Amino acid sequence: MSRKPIIAGNWKMNLLQSDAKALFEGIKNYVQDFSAQDLPTVVIAPVFTSLAAVAPEKCDCGCGCNRISVAGQNCHWEKSGAYTGEVSVEMLADAGCEYVIIGHSERRQYFGETDEMINKKAKAILAGGLIPIICCGETLEQREAGVTDSHIASQIKAALEGLSEEQVSGSVIAYEPIWAIGTGKTCDADEANRVIAMIRGVVAEVSSQSAADAVRILYGGSVNPGSISEQMSKSDIDGALVGGASLKADSFNEIIANTMKVAV
Ligand code: PGA
Repeated sequence: MSRKPIIAGNWKMNLLQSDAKALFEGIKNYVQDFSAQDLPTVVIAPVFTSLAAVAPEKCDCGCGCNRISVAGQNCHWEKSGAYTGEVSVEMLADAGCEYVIIGHSERRQYFGETDEMINKKAKAILAGGLIPIICCGETLEQREAGVTDSHIASQIKAALEGLSEEQVSGSVIAYEPIWAIGTGKTCDADEANRVIAMIRGVVAEVSSQSAADAVRILYGGSVNPGSISEQMSKSDIDGALVGGASLKADSFNEIIANTMKVAV
C-alpha cells in the first residue's frame, strides 16, 4: 500500500516572526514549482508566536502557500480555561494549524509529559479535526540495555489507547531515537526501518492491520539532505521529522527534493 510521504520541519524554540516568515517564503518559493501530487506532505511547526506570520491563507493563486501545512509544537487537551501558558486545539486550528506534534522527547524530558497526557492530547487533537504527530523514542541507555522495542511499544500503546481505527489510520507517528536528536548521529536506516516496522506491528495489534497499513510513520533524528534518500528507500519509513536541517530553506528544500526522487 502506498502512503504519501511527509516531510515535517520542527522549528523548536527558534526564529522570530520575521525570520519565520522569511523561511516560510523560502520553502513556498521552492514548492510552488511542483504539483501537490508530486510533493510530499510538507509540514512546518513554528513557535506559537509565529503561527500567524506563516499560517497560509488557503488560496488558489498557485503561489504554493497551500502546499505547506502548519503544525503546533504542543497543545493542551482541554478546550479552554485556567491553564496558564497552554494553548488548545481549537486555538491552533484557529491560527491555521492542521497538525500538532505531541510527545516530543524534549517535552517528555524537560516538561514532564507522560504517556497519559500524550493520549489525552491525541484524543483532543483528533476530536478537533487536526492530525497528531505522535513522537516516541528510546534513550541511549535504553538502547544499550536492549529495551528499545518494549519501551517504544509501550509508548505507542499508551498514546493510541481508546482511539478508533479510523483515528489511528489518519494519525502520524514519528520514531525519534533520543540519542540521534540534534547530535548529528543518525540512526542506521535499516535499524530505523526495523523499529518502524515493529511500531506498525504494534499498531496492527492494538488497532487493526488496515490502520497499520495506513498510518504514516516518520523517522526523526539528525535527518539531513544526505541521509534522507536512503531513509526514504526503506519499506516502512514514510518521511521525516526534521529539526536542525529544517531551519534553513536550502537544506529543508533539498530534503523535500530528495524525497521526491525516491518517491517516484
Ligand atoms: P534534529 O531534531 O533533526 O535536529 O535531530 C529532530 C527532532 O527533534 O524532531
